[in-house]
Amino acid sequence: MIKVCKFGGTSMADAAAIRKVKDIVSADDSRRYIVVSAPGKRNKNDIKITDTLYACYDEAVKVGTCKKKFALIRERFTEIVRDLGLSIDINAVLDRTEKEIDEQRSADFAASRGEYLSAVVMAEFLGYEFVDASEMILFDSRGRLNSEYTDDMVKSRLSGIEHAVIPGFYGKNYGGSIKTFSRGGSDITGSIIARGVGADLYENWTDVSGFLVCDPRIVPEAKTISQITYKELRELSYMGASVLHSEAIFPVMKGKIPINIKNTFRPEDKGTMIVPNEKYEAKEAEEVITGIAGKKDFTVIFIEKSLMNSEVGFIRRVLSVIEHHGLRVEHLPSGIDTLSVVVASDQLKGGVLGDVINEIRESVSPDYVHVIENISVIATVGHGMARRPGTAATLFTALADAGINIRMIDQGSSELNIIVGVANDDYEKCIRAIYNAFIK
Ligand code: ASP
Repeated sequence: MIKVCKFGGTSMADAAAIRKVKDIVSADDSRRYIVVSAPGKRNKNDIKITDTLYACYDEAVKVGTCKKKFALIRERFTEIVRDLGLSIDINAVLDRTEKEIDEQRSADFAASRGEYLSAVVMAEFLGYEFVDASEMILFDSRGRLNSEYTDDMVKSRLSGIEHAVIPGFYGKNYGGSIKTFSRGGSDITGSIIARGVGADLYENWTDVSGFLVCDPRIVPEAKTISQITYKELRELSYMGASVLHSEAIFPVMKGKIPINIKNTFRPEDKGTMIVPNEKYEAKEAEEVITGIAGKKDFTVIFIEKSLMNSEVGFIRRVLSVIEHHGLRVEHLPSGIDTLSVVVASDQLKGGVLGDVINEIRESVSPDYVHVIENISVIATVGHGMARRPGTAATLFTALADAGINIRMIDQGSSELNIIVGVANDDYEKCIRAIYNAFIK
């Protein structure tokens, strides 16, 4: 049994948290490969090491040295090393790092040093080998992960190493310099390592006990999701964002390796298991829905034209206009003579919306174009829906009873989700109504 464990910023924030990490790792010998984030916030007003490192880079660019900001990095790491009672010469490592940032290698390089230093300390504390992510994780010439090469490298570099600590968040560019993933990217590193070593489980240790069915700011009593499939989680991506990086499921998805979201500060909690379809363990009293997530501030461009579906290339021409403006389409619900294009409103500012409408008029001569603004999109997700007749009826009845006007409906053919568009003002009310209708 091999487990890869990733510990996030709060789990690495100070010596007390790092001690908890050690207890967790030591409790299970199959926890062999440990991926760490940079120290995060110790309290609400604290600053993440990664943010301070970006500031170090800016300072070095501006005045030639990052001395001032780097003092904060030095303070944090010397304190951690001292409180853990370690004997490594952390100041020597910090001196070298400060010099390297001063040489202004890149913002990515500076930011990556948080994970690097964190892993150096953790390896020492656990007595494990430090293996640098830049030896294994490679990006191609277009900046995308070279997954085949990376897989092979992870496999060969870690084979024969019983236990290792690996810094998260970064790898190596095609040209040999350090490149980071987007923020929160240590989750991706953990997933890559899990796939490379063929782990049985990827444990992602954070500061919450898993995903909740919906936003607890809206439904304070929201339950934890005990089990969710990769696909459901993708559909709920609006919700997962802060718990797990949205790209982190792809590497393990290929290897069908489950992810367990766990809480470092409540290790006894089961957390959320993210599994491939075939590993989903159906329970008798299973809830019909798994989660509810949504986002505010969309614009719906509603286009009507009789017999539009007999007109070859109609949708393509509408989408060409959208593409021409570089807009991302969120949803595309359609009817027999209607098509709605749902786009995040912030993309349509500065006259873009007017241009798009005019171009759609020119391009497809619709009977009618109508714009609905200030729309929230809410996805109700559950793979149980396909087997359970009446799910849509329950949902729509709940919304009707709550007096919510549904402005748009989109049900994917996967029968994994039902998406509704409602006025921004109804957003919270809508999520509450759906939760109450389905979750017992
Ligand atoms: N330290 C990085 C960040 O703050 C990456 C991570 O924690 O996953 O975004």
